Amino acid sequence: MASALTEKLSRLVKELRGQARITEDNVAEMLREVRLALLEADVALPVVRDFIARVKGKALGAEVVGSLTPGQVLVGIIHKELAATMGAGTAGELNLAAQPPAVVLMAGLQGAGKTTSTAKLARHLIEKRKKKVLTVSGDVYRPAAIEQLKTVTAQAGAEWFPSTAQQKPLDIARAALDYARKHHFDVLLVDTAGRLAIDAVLMDEIKELHAVLNPVETLFVVDAMQGQDAINTARAFKEALPLTGIVLTKLDGDARGGAALSVRAVTGVPIKFAGVSEKLDGLEAFDAERHAGRILG
Ligand code: GDP
Repeated sequence: MASALTEKLSRLVKELRGQARITEDNVAEMLREVRLALLEADVALPVVRDFIARVKGKALGAEVVGSLTPGQVLVGIIHKELAATMGAGTAGELNLAAQPPAVVLMAGLQGAGKTTSTAKLARHLIEKRKKKVLTVSGDVYRPAAIEQLKTVTAQAGAEWFPSTAQQKPLDIARAALDYARKHHFDVLLVDTAGRLAIDAVLMDEIKELHAVLNPVETLFVVDAMQGQDAINTARAFKEALPLTGIVLTKLDGDARGGAALSVRAVTGVPIKFAGVSEKLDGLEAFDAERHAGRILG
């Protein structure tokens, strides 16, 4: 793991003490360090390039006042820019402004944490927002996934709508929606099939599900440990679906979390929640300030 960027920069700027401004000359080497630190945190290269260009624009000419060194000023600028980039939009909130049931569609690769996050959101909506919540799984390829949703839905205290591997995902979606309407559910959470890699059939299927369900939230669930690859996954889901938010899972792992910056940059939608444990209470509003600190080390 990279040694802390803040330390590296302070070493670099020892000789720059006493300079009153950040200039093209003294910033170049520091920006190289920043670039490396972001790459080591697994931020995707094109995102790093854009980010560095923005930081450079803000840093040049910035005044170095008081007892601060140019390095400290630069770290401050980077931290602020990282937090602003990752934190744009609302964290911790789901938009439920729809004729009930408000439908939330969960999208992402297999293993990203969709089923777990579905149950975590169910629990959150029941406890924090006093909603009546129904869950359903459209994962007809993995009967075990349907069973898993049944189990965690019960743990979350929500109701589970049965589905089987013999059904078509669209039929399941229609039936669940119908049931949710008839029984006055506030929210219908729809867990979907994920593959190990991007797959055209899967993408067509989830697009059709989106058309039938007309969800008010379409959440892209992504594993923070996915690192560099997260950008490709994010791009594929963004092309297929009008995403409204991101759930970044497994932030309790030891990834530096650069995936957050990549997926935010590529999708343009807010990171709404962070998964911080396997348990159903392990869901937090994404904290961009804290996460910027983690990426910078
Ligand atoms: P799905 O295939 O996308 O539905 O993924 P699952 O919900 O089945 O999750 C895959 C694995 O990741 C399971 O073992 C979960 O317990 C685990 N998991 C999901 N979210 C988190 C998280 O935020 N932190 C940790 N540590 N594990 C998680």
